[in-house]
Amino acid sequence: MTNILRTMVVLLAWPAAAAAQGNPDWHAQFPAFKIAGNLSYVGTADLAVYLIRTPQGNILINSDFAEDVPTVRKSIEQLGFKYSDTKIVLISHAHGDHDEGVGQIQKDTGARVMVMDGDVADVQSTAQGRPGAKVDRTLHDGDKVELGGSTLVAHLTPGHTKGCTTWTMQVEEGGKKLNAVIIGSPNVNAGYILAGNKDYPTIAQDYEKTFKVLKSLPVDLFLGAHGAYFGLKAKYERMKTGGPNPFIDPAGYRAYVNERESAFRNEWEKQKQGKP
Ligand SMILES: [Zn+2]
Repeated sequence: MTNILRTMVVLLAWPAAAAAQGNPDWHAQFPAFKIAGNLSYVGTADLAVYLIRTPQGNILINSDFAEDVPTVRKSIEQLGFKYSDTKIVLISHAHGDHDEGVGQIQKDTGARVMVMDGDVADVQSTAQGRPGAKVDRTLHDGDKVELGGSTLVAHLTPGHTKGCTTWTMQVEEGGKKLNAVIIGSPNVNAGYILAGNKDYPTIAQDYEKTFKVLKSLPVDLFLGAHGAYFGLKAKYERMKTGGPNPFIDPAGYRAYVNERESAFRNEWEKQKQGKP
């Protein structure tokens, strides 16, 4: 094959492969690192997994896809922690890129799984690669999850899923307390019906509630379910050069939430006017 032909074949094959496997960053190993205090990043290059270390074991937020669990485990071990010390597993929301591996982690470690009520049925389901995990505790808006002196608060931020959860916690770094906010998802996915949704009649009002909650939270550390929400890669590179912690970014948080709210409102307006 000539080089030109070979290039053409690669270019033609690429979109199909990319569509079948999703974003390549989803499954790519990313260096595990400490964000601040006892809060670390152990996710892939885009699918965020957070580890909260405590003297009584660790909490994980998200599992990623089932195929990513070995990658997450490697990241936990890179930091010198034990996968088997996982005591509690939480999720951002019940979509496979965040929760498909929950059942596997529960089986491997015996961790207790705690999920917001609107997402419990999905996490327990085994349909279409769903995690099939046993939910040990059903959470409600404002519930606290406590382990070894660390407290996480579950904020119901629904719309993206009915039980979509934004997690907050305080971490201590250099004698200072920092408010961490891990956004569940403010995104209106392609194909979501905001106007006249028979299966989820309150979806648009739920998104409105979500933006109100997100705007009310005190924030220092801006984090979320996908690295792309908060610029994981660029901030990680900046962190390596030293200086102030780039994940402390309240302005970036506000800009992101405002931009996502306009995107939601534009889409809702469009749907109300019956435009495609
Ligand atoms: Zn999602």
